[in-house]
Amino acid sequence: MTFSPQEFKQQFPLFSQAENRDLVYLDNAATTQKPGCVIDAIRDFYLHSNANTHRSSHRLARRATDMVERVRAASACFLGAQSPREIIFTRGATEGLNLLANSLCRGLVAGDEIVLSTAEHHANLVPWQMLAEQHGLVLRFVPDANGVPQIDRIAEVLSPRTKIVSVTGGSNALGFRTDLATLRATLRATLSQRDLRWVVDGSQLAAHDVVDVAAIGCDFFVCSAHKFYGPTGIGLVYGREALLRDLPPWQGGGEMITSVDLLASDYADLPHRFEAGTSSLAAIAGLGACIEFLGKQDRRAMAQHEQTLLAYLHDRLSKVPELELLSNPRNNLGIASFVHPRCAAIDIAQWLDGRDIAVRVGHHCAQPLLHAAGHTATVRASLVAYNSREDVDRLIAGIEELLQQLDDTAEPQPSAAGSSESAATEAYPWQPDDLSKLDLDALCNQKNWQDRYRTIMSWAKVISRKDQIRTTEHLVQGCESSAWLVHRQEAGVHRFAIDSDSRIVKGLGALLLSQIDGVSEGAVAPSELHQIFDELGLSQQLSESRGNGFRALVQRAFDLMDA
Ligand code: PLP
Repeated sequence: MTFSPQEFKQQFPLFSQAENRDLVYLDNAATTQKPGCVIDAIRDFYLHSNANTHRSSHRLARRATDMVERVRAASACFLGAQSPREIIFTRGATEGLNLLANSLCRGLVAGDEIVLSTAEHHANLVPWQMLAEQHGLVLRFVPDANGVPQIDRIAEVLSPRTKIVSVTGGSNALGFRTDLATLRATLRATLSQRDLRWVVDGSQLAAHDVVDVAAIGCDFFVCSAHKFYGPTGIGLVYGREALLRDLPPWQGGGEMITSVDLLASDYADLPHRFEAGTSSLAAIAGLGACIEFLGKQDRRAMAQHEQTLLAYLHDRLSKVPELELLSNPRNNLGIASFVHPRCAAIDIAQWLDGRDIAVRVGHHCAQPLLHAAGHTATVRASLVAYNSREDVDRLIAGIEELLQQLDDTAEPQPSAAGSSESAATEAYPWQPDDLSKLDLDALCNQKNWQDRYRTIMSWAKVISRKDQIRTTEHLVQGCESSAWLVHRQEAGVHRFAIDSDSRIVKGLGALLLSQIDGVSEGAVAPSELHQIFDELGLSQQLSESRGNGFRALVQRAFDLMDA
């Protein structure tokens, strides 16, 4: 059966909004768009069934309760669980993993071990770190090659003290799948007799695969609905019933008890003992619609389309000069991750955003993996079934256009004054750049944001590369890309120099320095700089992290002046 991404896409109302007609959405690993039926189900819940569940005998409460339990049963089928009692609703995968970490570690003793991998999303790392600290547990990691876990070597880190193995089903940063079949075979062979618990973080799997926890063979499986076309605010934890029965609850509160005394309580039966408080009821309604929606799709044809498209994406990216691809299309969950030596990842993403192409940039909440791969940030393009070859072509055209523009406006060479061999080494290893041609009034008078953005990018050109200041000492914390700032006092005025691997940060740095370089003590206040930033519309147009980066530069500049 052939699959039409165009027809599939028509079921997603966001794409038919006038403002989104040209949108290329390649940020699906962060969250997918929602089909109309999911949006309708959320609205219908509030229109026809809105009441709290379980606690009341009235008609609406019964309807809401029935809906929740129906969706629980559908979720059990969706994941291949044996019973709805094996399904716990959480706010998302993060909460699910926190639940498991807290409940599973409760009975462990100092020296017990937890095995994780370098590829984990922070959501499957930080909770275990917190519990390890609390209980004196030891975290061990699957051997890896440049961060990629070598699952076939996991036996090397298993020991009689291993109590939990918690690994991702696939990397959200680089896309590679975990070899769960090998993992299952190893765990069975090595530890069949033991009280080891196996958790799979399946957050990235369900959009692409039909999940079957029985076939995977894990004890616990966690995912978030928003990653597979469902709403935000609802996640699923699957747990083997026999194991859940013995697991202590994590959070306490209403709904998870049968009776409460002043000093003790009896907990409710499965699965409600793990669902303290009011659940995200409308989101559960949306999840139900999402599962029904996916049930009507030809999942095999969808997966085939995604794989073909992913191969095409990697092929096109591999032909972009100098671009370094960190991902591989084989055994991959729809993700291409890349960097370019001449352009910071954040600048690529910002440029693409200007062409209405949505990608993600940064460490993707997988810092250990990116560090092991030798990077702090990548550009990530992630596909699902509504993406098409046209989307890939637009992405590639956008990148090529950016690289062409970089060729046309090559970075200034280190100035003689800024070079390490220069006369400047006598007193200081750096000289300030010449900012005299930067005209703030002209920038402010520009009518639209695009022109201002272009001007700020062109201001980056006055900032020369200064290898001598690119040190940890001068690194400004809080900027998404690396930025280095230095200061000295000279004849009663403050002198600064800046460098960055990002052109937009250099441009913002030039803007900042145009106001503070060469001024005397107290001549300018941080609030004036923030005001300029706001009046230029930068706070609305740049991402929050960029705004924070600018504020971090301002803060560091004034700290240096005060020092
Ligand atoms: N695990 C993985 C592999 C993920 O990709 C994500 C989200 O990106 C999470 C966990 C956390 O999911 P959520 O933010 O929905 O809780």
